[in-house]
Amino acid sequence: MAWDFSTEPEFQAQLDWVDEFCRTEVEPLDLVFPGAAYSRNPKAKALADPLKQQVKDRGLWALFLDRDLGGPGFGQLKLALLNEILGRYRSAPVVFGTAAPDTGNMEMLAAYGTDQQKRRWLYPLMNQEIFSAYSMTEPQGGSDPSLFSTRATRDGDEWVINGEKWFTSAGAHADIIFVMCVNGMFVVPRQTAGVEIAEFPALHNHIRYTNVRVPADHLLGPEDGAKVLAQRRLGGGRIHHAMRTVAQVKLAFDIMCERVLSRESHGKVIAEHQMVQEAIADSYAEINMLRLLVLWTAWTIDNSSTRESRTQIAACKYTCAKVLREVSYRALHIMGSLGTTDLTPLQAMWAAAPTMAIADGVDEVHKVTVARNVLKGYQPHPGLWPTEYLPAKREEARKKYADLIAADPDLAAWADAAARGRLGRR
Ligand SMILES: Cc1cc2nc3c(=O)[nH]c(=O)nc-3n(C[C@H](O)[C@H](O)[C@H](O)COP(=O)(O)OP(=O)(O)OC[C@H]3O[C@@H](n4cnc5c(N)ncnc54)[C@H](O)[C@@H]3O)c2cc1C
Repeated sequence: MAWDFSTEPEFQAQLDWVDEFCRTEVEPLDLVFPGAAYSRNPKAKALADPLKQQVKDRGLWALFLDRDLGGPGFGQLKLALLNEILGRYRSAPVVFGTAAPDTGNMEMLAAYGTDQQKRRWLYPLMNQEIFSAYSMTEPQGGSDPSLFSTRATRDGDEWVINGEKWFTSAGAHADIIFVMCVNGMFVVPRQTAGVEIAEFPALHNHIRYTNVRVPADHLLGPEDGAKVLAQRRLGGGRIHHAMRTVAQVKLAFDIMCERVLSRESHGKVIAEHQMVQEAIADSYAEINMLRLLVLWTAWTIDNSSTRESRTQIAACKYTCAKVLREVSYRALHIMGSLGTTDLTPLQAMWAAAPTMAIADGVDEVHKVTVARNVLKGYQPHPGLWPTEYLPAKREEARKKYADLIAADPDLAAWADAAARGRLGRR
């Protein structure tokens, strides 16, 4: 059966394990020692590493990488189903070796790295022995890569990088930074002389690269190939965001549904008020529309490529931002005053909605991609009227029945009345 919405039993057993593992191991770690899974502190590592080992033992580590790129090769559809669980828990992606920004950087290395580059950076990244960041956006503008000016100049056996980058997530903590220059993608160890990290913003760093020298073999992929590598990187990242958003909106929905059954107002439980029912019904439909769009896109990637799925990935990106905005707002609103506090996950989820519409490309740019690509499948209509202009279509269709209409006055009258739009009961 081609259109089968079920999950094969073996993988469902894995998902059930992940669900239980996240609830009993990952969430408690998140609640009591937030950040421990990312930390290099030996005490934090002693807590998080055994969890990561359990994931490896189940064969679920770095699930985003295909087999030929060094991962288990489960594909994007299975990753989507997994991320529907992981996205609920803050540190689950890192416990499963699927956390941004390392995932996208690993995809680039796996696809474009030489054997030596893979040995030096990919495998240590996969094992979380090192962490990475991605420096693309520049202060003067992020949406339009033609505004970027960071450049590398060849000098003997080295490249010399000059430029300024903005909003490099986790740049201050990364061991290596993938720096997108106008003439290539470079791997820059953060400690290299000339890498200067500004004090603000704290999490997404503003970095100046002044005469930063890296050996020639730190160029990743071909010279002038940065845009191709960036597309490869960002395509994967965007669909992963959307997968995890499905988890977030399901969490918001669960919180909302439990609450409306638990409180009363004006003589009935809140769930019986029609406007609350509308919020539940709309959220249910929107979450499932997003989920099916994401699963269909993941399936398309598995059956073609990230590149061939660009239109769908772009649609996932702005749709997940929209559904996150709508559903988290409804859930927060239905929780009343409690929703406005940080005592449930909802306020942070709602605050993250605008971010989702900007990170990895603003909504407008993705909508342009979708509209442009979709319109490639259409042609302008040849004359004055659209193809579906009914009088012209009817005139054309009449030709099919010309002999019949000529021979039978009743049918001719029927067809004439239809043409004039005055068809009574016959
Ligand atoms: C949480 C987060 C993490 C990020 N992490 C990284 C990272 O690790 N590395 C990195 O390099 N970058 C990162 N970014 C930066 C991100 O890629 C940029 O913010 C994004 O590309 C938009 O660029 P900008 O912020 O300069 O906004 P601008 O390009 O200035 O856009 C601002 C607004 O202008 C309008 N606009 C822009 N272009 C168009 C258009 N074509 N059509 C219509 N309207 C338009 C839109 O309203 C848009 O929201 C991150 C951003 C966020 C929010």
